[in-house]
Amino acid sequence: MTFASAAIPPTVAILGATGAVGQELLTLLEERSFPLKQLRLLASPRSAGQTVAFKGQTLTVEPVSAEALSGVDVVLASAGGSVSRQWAPVAVEQGAVVIDNSSAFRMDPAVPLVVPEVNPQAALTHQGIIANPNCTTILLTLALAPLAALRPLRRVVVSTYQSASGAGARAMEELRQLSRTVLDGGEARSEVLPHSLAFNLFLHNSPLQANGYCEEELKMLNETRKIMQLPELSLSATCVRVPVLRAHSEAVNIEFEAPLSVAEARAALAQAPGVELIEDFEANRFPMPTDVTGRDPVAVGRIRQDLSHPQALELWLCGDQIRKGAALNAVQIAELLLEAAR
Ligand code: NAP
Repeated sequence: MTFASAAIPPTVAILGATGAVGQELLTLLEERSFPLKQLRLLASPRSAGQTVAFKGQTLTVEPVSAEALSGVDVVLASAGGSVSRQWAPVAVEQGAVVIDNSSAFRMDPAVPLVVPEVNPQAALTHQGIIANPNCTTILLTLALAPLAALRPLRRVVVSTYQSASGAGARAMEELRQLSRTVLDGGEARSEVLPHSLAFNLFLHNSPLQANGYCEEELKMLNETRKIMQLPELSLSATCVRVPVLRAHSEAVNIEFEAPLSVAEARAALAQAPGVELIEDFEANRFPMPTDVTGRDPVAVGRIRQDLSHPQALELWLCGDQIRKGAALNAVQIAELLLEAAR
């Protein structure tokens, strides 16, 4: 099953339209002139009745329901795992394809996990649901895939520097407010995130597993293996939340089965789809979150030989994880389906 050509242009629903990812989905559908018969904005009953401007029209947010999903061809879901688990099967039952931003279905063997620049063909094998990977994983695989095409990967060690926006619109607002509180000499008490991010950082707060890793770190391992079809890949991640408003960064150490020169790696990354090199050693200028905020590419730089290992390279990357790490990736998947149906 791909997508019925009869459904072009499709009726699209954004489930979670009022959230950080939902708002970015709206922006992207407009920016990319995504063909639309109709656009429905769905969220919880809390935000039902809110209005949103889209292409000169005013759209009203509706509470999600079976009726609201009826007649929809593509659901772009970004309302969390439990909402997706409840509503994705209802949407699929009624004939929609669901592109899901939550982690609900990512490791389901029947559900493709897709980064369009890395494994686009997987999208066309879907049985109604396609999963969008975790944001840190999407950014990482964009840099790993062109290098893995040159030399097989042996081991990846990654540390992340994840912005407040990764935890949603309310976490971004909390960082703004608590930063003001601290600057005014007050005490920063967090309600959305487990600790205040204002002038602080903390290890990612997803649930810890018995092995000492948190869920976010294990998502990077398991999802990278699935997307890149490398079930044996060794990968160890440390995920950290930092006081950046938007866009994640990652320090990545990549060990190959055979040596890969910095020049070869740089040339491959310079040409890789979805990747931009920001690398000026003379000026000591490399990617920063502000370079990629609101932009599509993942910026890579400071590619260098690992001095501690002859078969390993180090690199640094930044990507707007609401955009390429979530909304853009989902819209690109929808575009793949449209292309296949034409
Ligand atoms: P968010 O800003 O908190 O937005 C959540 C959205 O879900 C809101 O529109 C909210 O609507 C809606 N929602 C919540 N409960 C609902 C319910 N019971 N029924 C219907 N709608 C409901 O979160 P977000 O950051 O956009 O993340 C959304 C999803 O994308 C999550 O699964 C997240 O893990 C995933 N994701 C996020 C990022 C990121 O960078 N932020 C990246 C990759 C993946 P109301 O306004 O009505 O509450």
